[in-house]
Amino acid sequence: MSIDDRYFARQLVLDGFGRSSQERLARSKVLIAGLGGTGSLMAVHLALAGVGRLTLVDRDVVSFENLHRQPIYAMDDVGKSKAEVAAKFVSDRVPRLKVAYRTESIDQRNSLDLLGNADLAVDCLDSMDGRRALNSSCVERKKPFVHTGAIGWEVSEAVLWPGRTACFECLFPPVAQTHGEYEDLPSCDQVGTLGPVVAMAASLGATDAIKVLATQERVTLGRMTVWDGRSGEIHRVDIKRRSDCAACGTHSARAVKNPQSQIGKSRVIELCGGREYYVTNILSPAHFADAGRRFLARGAEMRGESIVHIRVGEVEVSLFRAGGAVVRGVPSAREAAKVIKELGLEGAEVRFATGNA
Ligand SMILES: [Zn+2]
Repeated sequence: MSIDDRYFARQLVLDGFGRSSQERLARSKVLIAGLGGTGSLMAVHLALAGVGRLTLVDRDVVSFENLHRQPIYAMDDVGKSKAEVAAKFVSDRVPRLKVAYRTESIDQRNSLDLLGNADLAVDCLDSMDGRRALNSSCVERKKPFVHTGAIGWEVSEAVLWPGRTACFECLFPPVAQTHGEYEDLPSCDQVGTLGPVVAMAASLGATDAIKVLATQERVTLGRMTVWDGRSGEIHRVDIKRRSDCAACGTHSARAVKNPQSQIGKSRVIELCGGREYYVTNILSPAHFADAGRRFLARGAEMRGESIVHIRVGEVEVSLFRAGGAVVRGVPSAREAAKVIKELGLEGAEVRFATGNA
């Protein structure tokens, strides 16, 4: 009996699974977008189940206030890139796994590149713009998009399969035109979140991802699962394609990729760690090394391979190789933008948006 046969022995005997399913999983490539409570557990589930290749993407660093629901991150990891720490965690446990990580915010510029030749994308993101960008790439490449969401006591999950089901944008069209520049969604620092609730989102999404990749049998299409952890009730909600969907609709002119695309401008996005903001596009990745040297000479420190950590009084700035930054310890998005400007980084032209979970 091979090592793999022993390792996966309990999985191989599952009804409806078997060796051919295991082999399909081993050949599969998955993009996991977002590595918070849901995404970090998703990475563990898919790696241990035998998915062959993972790309892990998250724009943020490990934060103390989020550790209560993110068991793969340790106290020592606070301030390090979540993508980098998660990649090390899963590759330490599954040596055969091929894993890549990127510390980036997903948007219209990079989502096709991040999706690459993945067979499936799992949405564990905390921003609607990021979700729509990833969705439009999945629609373009006709790749299944497994949506997960967890906020408060509630979880949502659905397999969205271009050409077969509604896409994410059919369900959640942009609202910026009617609600100013804000997505009017609660964030986890406002309504809270609980470890087992986000773990439920990871379990539902990982089970569906494994079914899509390994067996393609009994995958529920055209319905979203909504679970309320407080009442214990579970609902299946019908989801419908919209012919006027900007991403997948029959009348869509996708040449205008996304009405909210912000290429070339910085944006400040509120994160759910509390007094924490992500600023996009402040630095070209090619200039990271120069900026890094400049700040290291002034007492900043490297955190892992891809972050320069800068302290300005009580405020902390994590500058990412990919060109964004997280500003922590400021009361508002405007203050975050001010800190970035005062550090001599770009980002003169900023607009503000909020994330959710
Ligand atoms: Zn659509």
